[in-house]
Amino acid sequence: QRVLGIEGTAWAASAAVYEVESDEVSIESDPYQPESGGIHPREAAEHMSEAVPSVVETMLEAAGERAAEEGRDPEDAPIDAVAFSRGPGLGPCLRIVGTAARAVAQRFDVPLVGVNHMVAHLEIGRHYSGFDAPVCLNASGANAHVLAYRNGRYRVLGETMDTGVGNALDKFTRHVGWSHPGGPKVENHAKSGEYVDLPYVVKGMDFSFSGIMSAAKEEYDSGTPVEDVCRGLEETVFAMLTEVSERALSLTGREALVLGGGVGQNERLQGMLREMCAQRGADLHVPEDRFLRDNAGMIAVLGAKMAAGGDTLAIEESAIDADFRPDEVPVTWRAGEPE
Ligand code: ATP
Repeated sequence: QRVLGIEGTAWAASAAVYEVESDEVSIESDPYQPESGGIHPREAAEHMSEAVPSVVETMLEAAGERAAEEGRDPEDAPIDAVAFSRGPGLGPCLRIVGTAARAVAQRFDVPLVGVNHMVAHLEIGRHYSGFDAPVCLNASGANAHVLAYRNGRYRVLGETMDTGVGNALDKFTRHVGWSHPGGPKVENHAKSGEYVDLPYVVKGMDFSFSGIMSAAKEEYDSGTPVEDVCRGLEETVFAMLTEVSERALSLTGREALVLGGGVGQNERLQGMLREMCAQRGADLHVPEDRFLRDNAGMIAVLGAKMAAGGDTLAIEESAIDADFRPDEVPVTWRAGEPE
């Protein structure tokens, strides 16, 4: 079994092939790099319309070569299903991904699978961790969620009340004139910075980043060295994510945490989570960087599980959903697993 995944919710035009039996994933991505400012939906969609067909063709060729090596009949489809990011994301980008996926499904007459991008961010970590029932922290660009599976759904235990965590960091770096994406630059500058105090906002199990961003911009404007503001940002924002993750572990009684999302590539965040988990005796799984940032590999892996359980879409019901929440997804692929 071999599944093609297609991703393109915001910045990464990406296609992947997942070989189910060998559990191998190959990914081909083409990132959108804004010339100035942050992600512009129209420009991002223009990027997707050029880059998605090309990464898909590259991966289909690779799948064809693998199929030929296996001795598959060249008349047969080189893939067994197509999975695509159905949402959440930027509508104009998602529509291009959906169109590409439908075209491939029809060309090869294979099932079409609509994957929730946020659930894919969590499931890829659970897949490679081997953990049964972890708490999942998704720290991505446009989102920030703490989730755990229970009774057929991923339940949102805590989430951002305003912007996504990566977008918040990117807004600060835009203010200081750095190019997008800002997260890696915050990480580099923070290494030589002294901590400065910024507002820490956790309410119950939810967090807010907008006040911290305004305060960080004010600190910078008042002459505080940018390295110090970056350090303060990392310490404050990641401590908030760590606190809520710890409370989620404590309240659910779970003993494992899985990290997901592009901000998860940050070593300081990984370090804080590692320390917190070690203190509680919980396990932590941090996926490889290629699976943390947006990528089609996670779409292909979850798509394969959904397809195996018959969770496929008819073409006429395969509309995208820009506001697709993770807790809207009936989890069909975990039947019989621990709650
Ligand atoms: P979502 O998955 O919510 O749709 P997204 O599409 O923006 O988000 P991701 O690839 O999950 O994409 O995350 C991108 C974000 O990760 C950007 O905001 C970027 O600045 C941030 N980021 C990347 N590397 C780092 C890092 N080392 N430290 C902090 N943030 C980082």
